[in-house]
Amino acid sequence: MYDWLVVGCGFTGATLAERIATQLGERVLIIDKRGHIGGNAYDYLDESGIRLSKYGAHIFHTYSEKVWNYVNQFADFNDYIHRVDAWVSGRYFAMPLNLETVNSFFDTNLTSESLQQFLYKKRVPIEYPKNAEEAVLSKVGWELYDAFYRSYTKKQWGIDARDLDASVTLRLPIRMDSDKRYFSDPWQGIPVNGYTSLFERMLRHKNIDLLLDANYREIASLVKFKRMIYTGNIDSFFDFEHGKLSYRSLKFEHMGYDTEYFQHVGVVNYPNDFDFTRIVEHKHLYKQRHEKTAVSREYPCWNEEEPYYPIPSTQSQQLYRKYEEAANKLRNVYFCGRLGTYRYYNMDQCVAQALHLFETQVSKREKVTVVG
Ligand code: FAD
Ligand code: UDP
Repeated sequence: MYDWLVVGCGFTGATLAERIATQLGERVLIIDKRGHIGGNAYDYLDESGIRLSKYGAHIFHTYSEKVWNYVNQFADFNDYIHRVDAWVSGRYFAMPLNLETVNSFFDTNLTSESLQQFLYKKRVPIEYPKNAEEAVLSKVGWELYDAFYRSYTKKQWGIDARDLDASVTLRLPIRMDSDKRYFSDPWQGIPVNGYTSLFERMLRHKNIDLLLDANYREIASLVKFKRMIYTGNIDSFFDFEHGKLSYRSLKFEHMGYDTEYFQHVGVVNYPNDFDFTRIVEHKHLYKQRHEKTAVSREYPCWNEEEPYYPIPSTQSQQLYRKYEEAANKLRNVYFCGRLGTYRYYNMDQCVAQALHLFETQVSKREKVTVVG
């Protein structure tokens, strides 16, 4: 008899399992239908010994000191600062848009001050942007939108930017200076020995048992447990009774090269060319020295077996609310995480949500409502 069954071994499930085992002293069985721990943050060494992130580049970045301190208990992080270039009209431009990007795109000599006025003239005057297209147009206008956002967004999501929440494109800042960092968060980095080793440390406890290649559907009737935390997709838990939630997926093409470096930065985005959105060169992120290299191309697609991105749109949120209502009625099942609460969360947000759920409900054996 376990006190808790935790379904899903990504950041959300691992954080809750660790907290329950170490802070409550209760017994946990954590399962994953995949053959590895770490969820989408899982990484491994390929046949050449190069560390690869199986599900795309994962950079830990956060504004929360609490979350940063929490994850730093389980790994040393390197000081990697994420850099992305976009390949547009046969040239590299720094992303997110900054002073240098704009100067080089328009062949201007603007300063930080004159850039504001320049963009003010370019922008489309929309006071309250209603979608991901308007969010960009209201800041920089059509030319930059068409070159850097329109096709990337369509390729990534399979739907037009005007059918997505403004929050999608607002994930990227627009900078008036020459700051080339992809993320502005004060704490950023990658575990020196990889994410998988961080997860091994999180789960190494006598109160935690781990079962891989174990789907909740097959396991639930075979083990006894008092309460459950579910971090898989919420619609599948309820047998899709209100209809299927959409998730955008990716196909990853991992390639090895007999050369020291393939590209000059960790990620190059291809908004307008090719079927893939970006190429990741993992060595930059892990700061690994190696005579060979490995890259991954990301091809967006629809694949229900691999649900990576909840779709941030009004329509999807309306359907999700029905599942959230059903979830709130279950007394001993807690839903959490990117798939469990259908939110386009980064890793730090998953850890923060899991810590919050633990502190406010799980540790008190209370069930209030699904946390946001
Ligand atoms: P997941 O990591 O998805 O874990 C859920 C686990 O549940 C999975 O392992 C799944 O196999 C398991 N599961 C599901 N259903 C069942 C079932 N029925 N039975 C058993 N197990 C089940 N975030 C960042 O902060 N920085 C980044 O740079 C970044 N880059 C990303 C790049 C890509 C391409 C993607 C797709 C995501 C990226 N993210 C990034 C987001 C990050 O991956 C997520 O925020 C985080 O991994 C979510 O953690 P989670 O535990 O909620 O879910
Ligand atoms: N985006 C874009 N062009 C780019 C990079 C991002 O239009 O070169 C938009 C696109 O809509 C994307 C969103 O910004 O889905 C968020 O980008 P981010 O890099 O945060 O996406 P993720 O890493 O989550 O895939």
